[in-house]
Amino acid sequence: METLRDWNEECAVVGVYNADTAASVAYYSLFSMQHRGQEASGISSSTGEKLITIKDRGLVTAVFGDDKLKKLKGRSAVGHNRYSTAGEDSILDAQPVFARYDLGEIAIVHNGNLTNAKQIREDLIQKGAIFQSFMDTENLIHLIAKSQKEKLIDRIIDAVHKIEGAYSLIFLSRKKMFAIRDPHGFRPLSLGRIKNSDGSFGYMVASETCAFDLVGAEYIRDVEPGEMLVFEAEGEPRSYKIFEKQPRPCIFEFVYFARPDSRVFGHNVYEVRKNMGQELAREKPIEADMVIPVPDSGVAAAIGYARESGIPFELGIVRNHYVGRTFIEPTQQSRELKVKLKLNPIKELIQGKRLIVIDDSIVRGTTSRQIVRILRAAGAKEVHMKISSPPTISPCYYGVDTPDKSQLICANMTLEETCRFIEADSLSFLSLEGLRRSIQCDERELFCQACFDGKYIV
Ligand code: SF4
Repeated sequence: METLRDWNEECAVVGVYNADTAASVAYYSLFSMQHRGQEASGISSSTGEKLITIKDRGLVTAVFGDDKLKKLKGRSAVGHNRYSTAGEDSILDAQPVFARYDLGEIAIVHNGNLTNAKQIREDLIQKGAIFQSFMDTENLIHLIAKSQKEKLIDRIIDAVHKIEGAYSLIFLSRKKMFAIRDPHGFRPLSLGRIKNSDGSFGYMVASETCAFDLVGAEYIRDVEPGEMLVFEAEGEPRSYKIFEKQPRPCIFEFVYFARPDSRVFGHNVYEVRKNMGQELAREKPIEADMVIPVPDSGVAAAIGYARESGIPFELGIVRNHYVGRTFIEPTQQSRELKVKLKLNPIKELIQGKRLIVIDDSIVRGTTSRQIVRILRAAGAKEVHMKISSPPTISPCYYGVDTPDKSQLICANMTLEETCRFIEADSLSFLSLEGLRRSIQCDERELFCQACFDGKYIV
């Protein structure tokens, strides 16, 4: 993919309830989900008497040292990793969002994007509300505080009935935790349980199941679209259907966002990606000497392509994993350097070879062009770029930071023009039907695929 992060997931959430060292469980969960957001990280924990919140800009390991984790006492916690767009990366935009109100204290974490956030905010401001951040999530605090309902659970239900869009939300009060997925279930949220030292069980909800693996929790099931789980005292969480579900989970989770070792919407991501490569080989065969992935996002699909086509798989490009976000971004004129800092081809391997290069998607096209250029400079005879998803032609309004349509190369150029732009010998994409087949889903299973077909549900 345009891995120098042109297409960014916005956020990871985790909630931990009635568990030994809840903040530490939240910390390791956030660490395992760092790929979903690198700008800021935060945790709120509950001692039962009060909430404690620590958040800051930076990676999870930079925000939390031992001293900070020790301050986050209690058996319940919520945590968040944030990806933010330029100009909105102040500490005020880090989560959890914490507030005191007439019923006590509350902390909220949110993964997604509220499509009616602007109208709600303007309405609240007209009624006297004062906002501290640019986050949609802050609207919820005001909606909960202003609700006329007596109990917190009813206020939360009241508030989420006023919002629209994509949300996996976790609320933490002093005694309880609430987890909600929007009626379409755009963003993932899974439920797991974790064994305490006395043999009892605590519960967790997290954006990805890789969080459960790291902390030794057991995956139970996905939170259903339109479902609210209420965690209180001991025992299993109670489930409430607060919306009629109309599932449209984000198909792009399989293409790029989720970690390959996660189980998302009931399917293992690695298996789906490998299937995507196999489908691509069946749909778009070509003669070549080797199949190489753009690391890391193209690896599983390239294995699938190689297996199906019988063409040898090689790791022809090596990725430097230590390029952080802190170095000074190269100027427009030296975009080539930006790619070279991260990706380096193995000259001896690819010299004189006809290459099939597998990547997961093309966004602006500039990164793909740089990859083709560095491969040619390293001596490749032919470069055939194959993409394991359909052309991305529309931006996302459901929690993913995407460039607008004018910058999406496939929305503005034909296949031939795009191929010429990226300077490849050929270019082809997996079909939408091929992508669906790769998930091996039930025919009736519907996904949001708006960035591929432009059909928006909300
Ligand atoms: S528009 Fe694309 S990225 Fe956004 S939720 Fe739908 S499938 Fe996912």
